[in-house]
Amino acid sequence: MTECDFKVTLLGTGVPIPSPDRFGPATLVEAGDQKLLFDAGRGAAIRLYQLGVPLGRINALLLTHYHSDHTSGIPDVWLTGWLQSHFGTRSKPFRVIGPVGARNLMENLERAYALDIKIRIADEKLEPAGIGVEVDEFVDEGPVYEANGVKVIAFEVDHGEMIKPAFGYRIEYDGRAAVISGDTRFHPNVITHSTGADLLIHEVAAAPPELMREEFIQRIIGHHTSPHEAGLIFAQAAPKLAVYTHIVQIASEHIAPVTLDALIAETRKTYDGPLVVGEDLMSFEIGEQVTIKRFAR
Ligand SMILES: [Zn+2]
Ligand SMILES: [Zn+2]
Repeated sequence: MTECDFKVTLLGTGVPIPSPDRFGPATLVEAGDQKLLFDAGRGAAIRLYQLGVPLGRINALLLTHYHSDHTSGIPDVWLTGWLQSHFGTRSKPFRVIGPVGARNLMENLERAYALDIKIRIADEKLEPAGIGVEVDEFVDEGPVYEANGVKVIAFEVDHGEMIKPAFGYRIEYDGRAAVISGDTRFHPNVITHSTGADLLIHEVAAAPPELMREEFIQRIIGHHTSPHEAGLIFAQAAPKLAVYTHIVQIASEHIAPVTLDALIAETRKTYDGPLVVGEDLMSFEIGEQVTIKRFAR
């Protein structure tokens, strides 16, 4: 059997909660010879290392929006990816693509780590080119990356009035497509861009009814998509496989979160097609069919 040439791996399926089971949001897309990273939340570098993918091998990092849970892993991927060891080895600039805000973020990271960079160039004789940063910012939706048959299209989503910009991505390769919703409330644009896709990776959020009295919890839930709404999106887009990631399970010290079974049951009220709740390092091979692979630890 030949290796599948279009594969998506969830590196982190979590949210800001510093959980050892669900790392921060990050998704690896491998298509042809391209390796693209979508968001770099907490622990993205660790997950890439577990997969045996050298950090320096990432062709581009694409950002959905600027909440810190999606970006706090960037300095690790960028800086560690420059080291000479087998897990690093980047000799070309680190390429970052994102809506407006990417340049500011990366320029300030360069400033923050200037001394480390200076020391390693002097002491370890690392090539300055490998720690350079190349940023492509975009304002509107449309194609944002194209290389060796892989095309990435950004589309606008709605993560809340004050949380702008916020985008999702559609990745096309050899007649197949995977879509990543990014953080968003129910948005028809996700349906527009994922109709006919092989794989649709969508965020989801749920809170126990007792906690919905709290204003800050109403606000969090208001920024995301409920399982009921996600089901409506899946039903209309009809992907070969729908996957949950960025799983917001609100809880308090005394009140347990909505279980994953309950999350699925709620989704089933509006959608009866193929569905899986993502786990860190779960991957999806997109061939004629979409095959789910769990990571053998
Ligand atoms: Zn998030
Ligand atoms: Zn967010």
